[in-house]
Amino acid sequence: MLKRNRSLVDVDRDYLIHPVTSFRGHEARGATLLQSARGMYVTDMDGRELLDAFAGLWCVNVGYGQESIAEVAAEQIRRLPYATGYFHFGSEPAVRLAQRLVELAPPSLTHVYFTLGGSDAVDSAIRYIVHYFNAIGKPGKKQFIALERGYHGSSAMSSGLTALGNFHRNFDVPLRWQHHIPSPYPYRSPVGDDPAAVIAQSVAELRAKVAELGADTVAAFFCEPIQGSGGVIVPPTGWLKAMRETCAELDILFVADEVITGFGRTGPLFACEHEDVNPDLMTVAKGLTAGYAPMGAVLMSDAVYQGIADGAAPDLPIGHGQTYSGHPVSAAIGLEVLRLYTEGGILANGRHVAPRFAAGLDGLSDHPLVGDVRGRGLLGAIELVSDKTSKKRFDPALKLPERLFAEGYRNGVIFRAFGDNILGLAPALCCTEDEMDMIFARIRQTLDIIL
Ligand code: PLP
Repeated sequence: MLKRNRSLVDVDRDYLIHPVTSFRGHEARGATLLQSARGMYVTDMDGRELLDAFAGLWCVNVGYGQESIAEVAAEQIRRLPYATGYFHFGSEPAVRLAQRLVELAPPSLTHVYFTLGGSDAVDSAIRYIVHYFNAIGKPGKKQFIALERGYHGSSAMSSGLTALGNFHRNFDVPLRWQHHIPSPYPYRSPVGDDPAAVIAQSVAELRAKVAELGADTVAAFFCEPIQGSGGVIVPPTGWLKAMRETCAELDILFVADEVITGFGRTGPLFACEHEDVNPDLMTVAKGLTAGYAPMGAVLMSDAVYQGIADGAAPDLPIGHGQTYSGHPVSAAIGLEVLRLYTEGGILANGRHVAPRFAAGLDGLSDHPLVGDVRGRGLLGAIELVSDKTSKKRFDPALKLPERLFAEGYRNGVIFRAFGDNILGLAPALCCTEDEMDMIFARIRQTLDIIL
């Protein structure tokens, strides 16, 4: 029975299950509902305007309220709101977006499969890789390696690669195909923060894991070029290339999960470009449509594509697909978003304000609560410690992340709090220098209140 005269927040409590949210905690706290947004600002249901320093969920890279995207979406809905990609069908926006992505991606990547977001992009990559090794006569290669603190999604398969405890607590499906090696985390690395030592340690860990499992059983290594949800862990320059080369040497595929780092977040269109890395596969989502519609993609090399093509029976469909793969409205939006990044100057603006972002982060390092600041492009983190020398974390019972988020909100800024002690920042690439300064001023105020 529908209950009448309830506020929207009450109705939300009654009916809606929120992602990555405690059911009971949500019943007690209630939802923060947003009603509109423009540029860098979102407005909540109480009419409060907040600076969004996290681009939604690190996805609205072009900022809110881009009229040209609304026009393209409306036009596509009028003309052709849906076309399946099954049974050799398709639509112009999906074809053009695939072509454009291949033009813009690292040169090794030549074919595109569209998904609905990042988790199913990772799932699709895993399934195509399994198919590939069967097709080329290496059916023993069924194990996957990823990084501790990595996040690759929460669907049944992608969650296997995710190595954040919260995503496995009470979801302990017995998975046996996935393995993890330590994260390249300079601030807390057992080998110290010397770049060469951190890189050498990761290479050695990967080699050791492959040796332990047997190279003929390992299919691929997945990594985020910068770990996002694990706390914006920025590996030293040279790490990505070293891991890529080690994979090639060990005969395992190298998969770059650029769901967060893609589409200008770290400066270039893809983080792989910093080190001229050519992955065998790459997963993307978020910035692909800048959050204006759901969409993700797997890009694969010609070798992987041809292996699958040659090894599969030509008269049997390959059993992998989703109803909304290559959705024409999402694809049309993706094309417009890519145009805004390139011809629309959004990428250029992101690079222009990146030094201001770096200066804002650096400016916080003298704060008594701040142990480490790190970042690249417009992706950054502030790691809080209760003691700067020992790098001691705050007691989880203090619920620091929740308090910080609440104080930040009161101060008119939205960021993300990870784990017990890390603040993540990922402002939209359309951010102005003044807006950037305001973000950091509000964060400092927030830290001062907590202090
Ligand atoms: N991979 C990475 C690196 C991510 O950060 C995320 C989401 O944050 C995903 C995959 C999953 O994407 P989605 O939430 O769109 O399923």
